[in-house]
Amino acid sequence: MDEFNRVLNTTNIFAIGDVAAHIDSKNPKGLPMLAPVAQRQGEHLARNILNIYNNKPLQPFVYHDKGVMATVGRKKAVVDLPKWKFHGTFAWIVWMLIHIMSLVGYRNKVVAFLDWMSNYFTYDRPLGLIIRPYNRKE
Ligand SMILES: Cc1cc2nc3c(=O)[nH]c(=O)nc-3n(C[C@H](O)[C@H](O)[C@H](O)COP(=O)(O)OP(=O)(O)OC[C@H]3O[C@@H](n4cnc5c(N)ncnc54)[C@H](O)[C@@H]3O)c2cc1C
Repeated sequence: MDEFNRVLNTTNIFAIGDVAAHIDSKNPKGLPMLAPVAQRQGEHLARNILNIYNNKPLQPFVYHDKGVMATVGRKKAVVDLPKWKFHGTFAWIVWMLIHIMSLVGYRNKVVAFLDWMSNYFTYDRPLGLIIRPYNRKE
């Protein structure tokens, strides 16, 4: 990927989000595979596509890390902001509110919130892995 999120050695193929490795001197291992990276790359690419359409030069993508959040269990999360790090139930509430706010559309926000509340009270885990011991016979 070059600085415009364009696949190397191509002129009009772009890749963003988890499938893209945006490697530069500041990020030698690429950017983290996280939603904020994908969202900002998407907004930036949309502006660059408009630039192509309007015969304007492409603008390089620069990622400003505003922080990282992750849930690590029921009522538990970690929030790692540039100047503030915290964890626990408060972090989980912050994680939930920010994720709900970043969903597009009022309907999606309400549906996601109700779905999460339902899962919380019913202990419903629709996604799970069943791992059994592997008995290899040689
Ligand atoms: C379990 C889990 C928990 C996570 N938790 C967090 C978190 O707490 N915070 C955070 O910031 N990030 C989290 N992430 C990472 C985050 O989900 C990804 O970084 C983000 O979704 C990447 O966005 P994307 O648009 O690149 O890819 P995706 O969101 O994966 O979107 C790709 C889309 O392309 C579709 N697609 C795939 N192949 C085709 C095809 N051939 N044709 C048409 N469509 C296709 C897929 O169905 C999908 O909808 C988590 C990821 C996982 C797996």
